[in-house]
Amino acid sequence: MADALIVSDAKPAKLNLLGMPRVQLESLLEELGEKRFRAQQILKWIYHQGASSFDEMTDVGRKLRERLAEIAEIRPPEVEEEFISADGTRKWLIRVEGGSRVETVFIPEDGRGTLCVSSQVGCVLDCTFCSTGKQGFQRDLTSAEIIGQVWIAARSFGLPKKGGTRAITNVVMMGMGEPLLNFDNVVAAMNLMMEDLGYGISKRRVTLSTAGVVPALDRLAEVSEASLAVSLHAPNDELRNQLVPLNKRYPIRELLDACKLYMERQPDNKRVMTVEYTLIKGVNDQVEHANQLVELLREYPCKINLIPFNPFPQSDFERPSRNAVMRFSNILHNAGYRVMVRSTRGDDIDAACGQLVGQVQDRTRRSQRYRERAEKRTDIQ
Ligand code: SF4
Repeated sequence: MADALIVSDAKPAKLNLLGMPRVQLESLLEELGEKRFRAQQILKWIYHQGASSFDEMTDVGRKLRERLAEIAEIRPPEVEEEFISADGTRKWLIRVEGGSRVETVFIPEDGRGTLCVSSQVGCVLDCTFCSTGKQGFQRDLTSAEIIGQVWIAARSFGLPKKGGTRAITNVVMMGMGEPLLNFDNVVAAMNLMMEDLGYGISKRRVTLSTAGVVPALDRLAEVSEASLAVSLHAPNDELRNQLVPLNKRYPIRELLDACKLYMERQPDNKRVMTVEYTLIKGVNDQVEHANQLVELLREYPCKINLIPFNPFPQSDFERPSRNAVMRFSNILHNAGYRVMVRSTRGDDIDAACGQLVGQVQDRTRRSQRYRERAEKRTDIQ
């Protein structure tokens, strides 16, 4: 199925400045005989102003702009389609180099706006409850394609008014793919999300979510200050082996120890990790599972996000009842945990957690389906 997603693209010859780390841009400017601080101007134009050409950079000298245009460009991935849900959630279907597609989702809530960003085309880990895993793995996204998703979303909201708030307040690396399996590109992009010359989003609000690539977590602590979420989904190894096959390699205790260590190594060690737990009817949503989770997490400072399963076509799993979700949540809450039940957002455009696919084969059919749903909404109103 992966083959159908690739269409041929000639490799572009010019350097892409989007996603290029600041130090690398500074070196490039030095090679061109310019002062390193010019990098600051260029970064501000790309990320603060959303510039896509050197002509727009009016405080950069004409000669340098012309030289840059000869050797470099600002090349974001292309938006192929944008969907807007009845609840305000937005989803972009984004075409990346080589012709593959990924999806990016924006979830507006009171006082915040969270962008869910993809790190790979497809995913190799094949968690049984995830539609991304079902389409297999194609390739890692480049740092330009990762930060490019933020660039696209930020531009679509327009520049914030002076003193006004930005639409995107939080970013979660929780879209398609396992971010720690695309380590260097994800770290470069997250650094641009957090640094002032990039998007300047607080490190508390940029979160990497992992299914548990334990050795990469040790490396991550050396190069990143992002917040951490772990996709747990089961309270014991036997069940997690079935839901998240990576668990056979890095079992739960090993994973939680590595996450705890990552948080302890952060300069501000007041932050706690987030535990993500997708509740699946009759599989991991029973009282015994909640009680096991209470015991398991005792030594690990954390907050818990419960995500009622979002069904997708090839899945046999079902969403639990509201009562089952509340029962599970109450057990954790009564044991002293901070628990949040994530409400399903963007269901009508398949933007909910675990539903991202980005595949092209059924794109026309899906677009048609969204349109039909939108028309139905209009009929009802
Ligand atoms: S849940 Fe995450 S890690 Fe697992 S298959 Fe889906 S995208 Fe990959």
